This record gives sequence, structure tokens and C-alpha cells, in this order.
Amino acid sequence: MMVMRGYFQKSFLDKISEGYAYNRIILDENGVPCDYEFLEVNAAFEKQTGLKCSDIIGKKATEVLPWIQDYSFDWIKFCGDIALNGRDEKNKTIFHPLSRWYKVHVYSPEKYLFVTLYTDLSKDEEIFHRLNDNSQDIIFRYELSPVRGFTYVNNAAASIIGYTPEEYYDDPDMCLKIIHPDDRKLLGDCVQGKIPLHKPIVLRYIHKNGQTVWIEQRNLPTYDTNGNLIALEGIGRDITERKQAEDNIYNGYVRESAINEILRLSFKDLPIERLLEKALNLILDIPDFELENAGAVFLVEDDADCLVLKASHGLADPLLRKCARVPFGKCLCGRAASTEKMIFADRVDECHDIHYEGMKPHGHYCTPLRFKNQTIGVLNLYVQEGHTYSAKLEQFLVSSANALSGIIARKKAEEDINHYAGMITSLLDSIPDIIFFKDVKGVYMGCNPAFTEFVGRPREEIIGKTDYDLFDKAFADFFRKHDERTLELLQPRHNEEWITYPDGRKILLDMLKTPYRGPDGLLIGILGIGRDITERNRAEQALLKGKLIAEENDRMKSEFITNMSHELRTPLNSVIGFSDVLLKEIKGELNDSQKKYISNISKSGRHLLELINDILDLSKIEEGKMELQCEDFDLNSILSEVESIFSPQAAKKDINLQFVLSEKIPRIKGDKIKIKQVIFNLLTNAIKFTPKNGAISVIAKENDDNIIEVSVSDTGIGIPEAKLEDVFDPFIQVDASTSRNYGGTGVGLSLAKKFVQMHDGKFCVESEVYKGSTFTFTIVNQEYTSQSSYSKQ
Ligand code: ADP
Repeated sequence: MMVMRGYFQKSFLDKISEGYAYNRIILDENGVPCDYEFLEVNAAFEKQTGLKCSDIIGKKATEVLPWIQDYSFDWIKFCGDIALNGRDEKNKTIFHPLSRWYKVHVYSPEKYLFVTLYTDLSKDEEIFHRLNDNSQDIIFRYELSPVRGFTYVNNAAASIIGYTPEEYYDDPDMCLKIIHPDDRKLLGDCVQGKIPLHKPIVLRYIHKNGQTVWIEQRNLPTYDTNGNLIALEGIGRDITERKQAEDNIYNGYVRESAINEILRLSFKDLPIERLLEKALNLILDIPDFELENAGAVFLVEDDADCLVLKASHGLADPLLRKCARVPFGKCLCGRAASTEKMIFADRVDECHDIHYEGMKPHGHYCTPLRFKNQTIGVLNLYVQEGHTYSAKLEQFLVSSANALSGIIARKKAEEDINHYAGMITSLLDSIPDIIFFKDVKGVYMGCNPAFTEFVGRPREEIIGKTDYDLFDKAFADFFRKHDERTLELLQPRHNEEWITYPDGRKILLDMLKTPYRGPDGLLIGILGIGRDITERNRAEQALLKGKLIAEENDRMKSEFITNMSHELRTPLNSVIGFSDVLLKEIKGELNDSQKKYISNISKSGRHLLELINDILDLSKIEEGKMELQCEDFDLNSILSEVESIFSPQAAKKDINLQFVLSEKIPRIKGDKIKIKQVIFNLLTNAIKFTPKNGAISVIAKENDDNIIEVSVSDTGIGIPEAKLEDVFDPFIQVDASTSRNYGGTGVGLSLAKKFVQMHDGKFCVESEVYKGSTFTFTIVNQEYTSQSSYSKQ
């Protein structure tokens, strides 16, 4: 349409029914349209808009309609665009700032100028547009032929998908642009009638800002007169929030399922490494977290301050080596273990101590695995560098870590139980004793191989059976009676049983039956342990028999010795007595040879008598028949007595005999005769084994309150060290020739030692060959002791 001027033009314009306005666009300093000026309007315009020509000509739109820019649709920009670019915009339906609906045709006859032709919409059309533009749902019309493209979109379509209506109308490929590639087929199927058109479909739209918008859409087909589908009209509802809520519910379900799966793993009979690997994969498979497909699980094992890599996924080889053992405090995992807190890093930072060549940028979530207030491991997961920390992910990882800790603890407890059960089984299997356990009704619940051998049946044929199924009734009655007694008393009971093996072997069994209780303390049944004591019993019997024989022998020996001493001493006394009489020559003179012979008879007789007396004493002591005859006496006076006896013998050999006595020695209580005998024996030896011109000293002193020490030292032939211990044994002489050279019986020292022991004293000897010997003994004042150990016998 051309712009007409003058009267003709005015009268023409006033006659047409369309509202007409002729305007000039106003630009700001940047050349951007910011307003326009009314140049000319016709009568229909005045009628339709209610604006008076005289009031608006020459005025700016913002003056006439100050609220014009308050609307979402930028009318000034729209018109300015047409005025500057010479576009022609027809059938534009607008909600005018004048609160009325028009169909508008805008075109530019000349740059900066534009004409608007208005037609009032019908009431229905107005309602239609008002409803559409106020609708929360997307409403559109998409032409399929002859030209594809949107010919109508409402405000919601613009705001929900992000494009302006013009962008919809101008771009014939807009449909492809805004429908998610994966959902185009669904829309195509819908258009092709594969899906009933009236049925709602859910499509993903791509918002101008790239985000996904979920639209539940119902399409209405439009056909031409030939029945060809020419357009789709549709209504779509933004269900993104609902979808997200659904996704959240679904993802929550997936996460919970994963954790349940992890927990269920603990029931699987798999090695712990395999379980951890499976658990790790379950965590990595969770779809809605931005986790990289890599991670590891560490456990604390033998060393309490070190993490050991137990399972991993997607880790590079150098890392598997470097992270095989990670001390607490080192790198991110070690820090998570030592601080007992989750460590998050969005990149390889200064705390990431472990590096290797070719390491790619990444971040971590390291979650400690805790059980009973102790760190038992770390779950380490990878994220992309720059990953934004997610509290939701942390929450999930903490839950996963808890589930992992649970299965690790359970598995370890199981391993411990298996270990101990294995140990107990091998222990039971290797014990030669018969072991079994039965329930309170006497049904066998378990047994060891020794028991299966005894029964003569394999274990599986014993378990579940009772004694009545396995043994003769008499035996079964016997066993049952003992079981019932144990259950009645609720105490362990011993009994000895002679039992017969299937092969006929008979053994004596020491059977211990104990009430068997469960961990809760409730009575489960009876535990039986039977030991074969046949051999022990035989040995005991043999020992008893031996003891009886030995006792009988002892009795016979004493009887023999007593008899013998009597039988020997009587004739011997006659021999000695008569030879002494002969030597006195009362019955006639003797020649020299006769004197010599009879003297020898007398000497030998005395020696023999001495020997017999000593043997008798020894035998009495051994039999325990010798007792101390205790009395109060003065040791010094005994020593003086002994001195007077031995002085002549010493003088004969020019031996210097000295007695050093202490006046402090108190009167003591003891067997005077026996103590005198001890000193006597020691001095006899000292004189015997000390050559001429030697020296002998006897020293007596009180050592302690009630212990008296007496020592006899000589400068005699001495005793070799190797023989020192032996001299106290009966009939032992250092040299076989001793008795020949020096006489003696070899019994004196052993008797002396025994007498000292009867006084609770001790004997010792020090000696050096050719230098001399010192015999020392102590005696305990019997006043202070109850009774000598010997005298007790
Ligand atoms: P005997 O009657 O032979 O002296 P004893 O039992 O008194 O028997 O002594 C055992 C042996 O101990 C002696 O035969 C001797 O060889 C050695 N003996 C004992 N006292 C002395 C001593 N004072 N000096 C050297 N040897 C000694």
C-alpha cells in the first residue's frame, strides 16, 4: 500500500474500516529504536483505539501511552525493526497496551517510517488469544505443508523454551532445533500415526540456554480437504519439575538399591577382595553422580597405621604399585584415614602426594570406612578436575562407606570364626581322646575321629543318632544314665568305663561329661571327653605291686640284717674276748709267733665288729628306725673329752693337735652320742690320713643363734676333687689301697653325714691333694626345731 497525502488521501483513509496510523521511529544515541512519533491516524484508528487525532499527532508513543514498555512484548522494538529493515509483518495478533486485541499489519513504506493497520478482533478471537497468551501450557501450530514451520506459538512456548515467537516463525528448522535428538523419532512416529495422535507423548525440548525441558504434549492433526495431514496443533505442559522429582525418587531408589546390594554382598561366600570389588562397581554404576569410572578400596590390615589396597577399578598400573600400601597421613587416602573425615579435592592439589608420569588431571572423594570408632579402611573415588562438591554425593558415599564397613566387619568376623572353627576342628581331630557332644535328649550333634573309631561308623552315621541306635541296650542304658545324672547335677562328672571297640579291643576309659551351654548360657546338651587310661591303669597296678614287693623286701632285709648282726656279733665277741684272754697269757705263755697271730685275730675281729656295727647303724637310719636321743649338753666338754682320747694317738705320730673352742657356744640340745660319734669319725680319719709331723685343728663356733659349726682340718694326703662328693657314700674309699694302708671300712663319713642331717645340719668338705682336708659340719640346736626329719620316720 502506498502512502497517500492531501484531502483525497485523508477522506479515503477516514472511509476505510481498518485503523490506520503513520509513524516515525525514534532512535537513541546508539541508533537503537527507543520510541516513535505519531504522524497521521485515520478516523477508524480514533474509533478503535479511543485516542483522539488532535491529542496524539506529533507526540511520542511513550507520551501518549506511558506504560507501553511495561509489557513483555516490545512493541517499539518490533516496529523499529520493521522501520529500519523494511520488513512486512502481517496478521500479527497483539495484546495492545490499550488492553484490546487487534490483528495488525505493520510495514515500512520508507526507512524510519512505518504504517500500522489495525483490525479489531472478533470477540471469540479475542478470547482465544487472551486464553492462549495467559495459558501456562505451550500452544502451537506447526505447518507440515506446503511449507514447514511454526505459524503460531503462545507466550508460554516462548518463555518455557526460551525463543521469541519471531524466532519460532522465522526459523523453518526450529522444530529440529528444539526437540531433543533422541525424541525426534517419537514425534515422527506420532506424526506418522504410529502412535495415536490424541495420546499424550513426553518429549524433551532443548531450551535456548541448553537445558532440557520435559514437555508432556498432546498433538491435534489438521487435514486438508483431501484428507492429507497439513498441520499439527498442540498443547504441551512443562513437566520438568515433576520429571526431576520423579528422577530424584528414581535415583534415590537406585542409590538405596545399590546400598542394599552392597549389604547383601556380605552374605556371599566370596573372598573379601572380590566382595570389595563388586561393591566398588555397584557404587561406580550409580547413574546420577558425576563420578569417573575409577576408584579403590583400602583396608587396614596387620599394620594399624597403613592402608592396603584391596580392590580397584580403572586405576593405572603405576598407581596400583604406588598405592599398594599407603601410610596414614600420606596423600588424600592416608589423610582421610588419619583425620577420620571425608577428603574432597576438585583437582590434584598439594595434598596429593602420590604422582606418576602421565597422571591425568582429576579430583577425589576419599571417604574413611569406620567401624566401632576405628578407621578400618578408605573408599577412594575419582571425579573430573573442577568437579563441584556435591553434598548429595557425599551423603551417598558416607552411606556406601557405612555399608562397606558393615560387610568388612562381618566378613572379618566370619573369617575369624572360620579360623577358630578350623583350629578347633583340627584340634579335636588330632586329639586321641574320644570327644562328642549330644543334645539334652541324647542325640549326637558332633564328634571327633577318635569317637567314630570307637563307634565303628563314619561321622555322618553318628550325627542325629542316639546311643540306642549305636550300641547295645545295656551300654546305651549305662551311657544315658550318666548323661541324665550330669544334666541333673549341671556339673562335670568323671566315671571310668571299660568299653569294647568293634574289633574286640577292650580299654578303660576315663569319661568326663560336662553340661554344654550355648553363648547365651542356655543348656544345649552334654560334652563328653573320654581318655584311654588302660596303660596308665596297668602302670599304676604294676607300681603298686612293685611297692608291695619292695616293702616286703625291705622288711626281709631288715630282718636279715638284725638276725645277721646278732648271729655275727655273738661269735665275734667270743673270738675277740678269747683272743684277748690268750694275749694276757693267763692260761700259759705264748711264743712270739703265737702272740702275733692271736693279736691279728683280735684286731681283725674288732675291725669286723666295727664294720658290722656301722652297717647296722646305716641300715637302721635307712629304715627310719634310728631316732635322736636328745638331751642338753655342753659341746665344749665333749670336745675336751675327744681331745683327751685323741691326744696320745696324735702324739704318737708327732702330729700337732689343736682344739680351738669358743666360750660363747651355748649348751645345746641334741643327741650327744651321735654328735660325739661324728667328731670321733672325723678325727679318726684326720689322724689316719695325716703323716708324721703334720697338724690337725678342731674349731668349734656358733654361727647363728642356734647353729653350731665344727670343722676338722688336717695337713694330710688330701682328696682329689673328682672324689670329693663320693666320700660320703657308704663303702667308698678314695683309693682301693686305702683300707690296706690306713684301715677303715668306708662307712664312717656316710654315717657322720646322716647323723648331721638328723640334726638338720649340713656337711661339706674342702681338700687339696698332699696339702690337707677340712671337713665342716653344722648342727641345729634341736631346742628350736620341732623334730628331726629322720626322727619323724
Ligand atoms: P674309712 O673307714 O675308709 O676312713 P670313711 O667313710 O671315714 O671310711 O672315709 C671314706 C674315705 O674318704 C676314706 O677311705 C678316705 O679315702 C677318704 N678320707 C676321709 N677322711 C679323709 C682325710 N681326712 N684325708 C684324706 N682322705 C680322707
